[in-house]
Amino acid sequence: MFESLQVLVLEAEEKKKSLAEIVIETETVASNLSMEDVRLEMKKRLQIMKESTQQGLERPVKSVSGISGGSAFTFWRWLEDGNKPVSGSILSRAMARALSVNEVNAGMGCIVATPTAGSAGILPATLLTLQESHHFSDDEIIDALFVASGIGMVVVNRANVSGAMGGCQAETGSAAAMAAGASVALLGGTPRQSAHAVGITLKNMLGLVCDPVAGLVEVPCVKRNAAGVAQCFVAIDLALAGVESIIPPDEVIDAMANIGKVMDKNLKETGMGGLAATPTGKRLAAKVWQDSK
Ligand code: SF4
Repeated sequence: MFESLQVLVLEAEEKKKSLAEIVIETETVASNLSMEDVRLEMKKRLQIMKESTQQGLERPVKSVSGISGGSAFTFWRWLEDGNKPVSGSILSRAMARALSVNEVNAGMGCIVATPTAGSAGILPATLLTLQESHHFSDDEIIDALFVASGIGMVVVNRANVSGAMGGCQAETGSAAAMAAGASVALLGGTPRQSAHAVGITLKNMLGLVCDPVAGLVEVPCVKRNAAGVAQCFVAIDLALAGVESIIPPDEVIDAMANIGKVMDKNLKETGMGGLAATPTGKRLAAKVWQDSK
């Protein structure tokens, strides 16, 4: 099921259907549920996304370990105070929401893994901020979530979405790619443009390592979600303008898989390399584990 973006796009073009329709049809067959029930399941997830993108903006959400938290609240308050972010109003608001979801995750709150917990902020933050700015209905956002699901399935089938298997490129990279492809569809782009948004996003995130301090999904994960949103926005605009990835999107996904295979194990969620191995990273890890005794 969904072995390549090329096949997914071709199917949509030949049947003159949207990517969302193709993915929903496939899901009804796989789940043996009606189309209404499949959409209802996604609607439940959308509600969780709405809550988790909001919670961190309303109050500082601290992690259980104490090494992260409160960034979404700080940033949101700065925006609400009328400061002018150089990243622009839509991107900056999406960044705040991405931070929120990952702080909720680190605080043991409820999130939707899209595709993983560590990368759960990028997709909802992007889509819900576009809903705010462009006044999309919930049904349109649900369609976009199905597009993201189809893209995620291709990535899982050709590579993986696990930091332990492929580094952070596989987690936040895949999440940003899913969000970019889904957003292009939401904004009226063609299936081909969605696929190229995926390719452009992933190209720009290849090689990103997974180096969580103390092995916890907090540092650098929370802020990497804000950065993932930014990468996604770059690809959305380029793809909608008709810019394409010279390397076909499926080949970009394959390159990510191959990079993951040769990546050092210290850089694949072991908490032994990269930022986790810095003096501050080690000091924080020692404190976390000391405090937990
Ligand atoms: S650094 Fe590792 S644990 Fe954190 S978001 Fe990236 S892949 Fe996930």
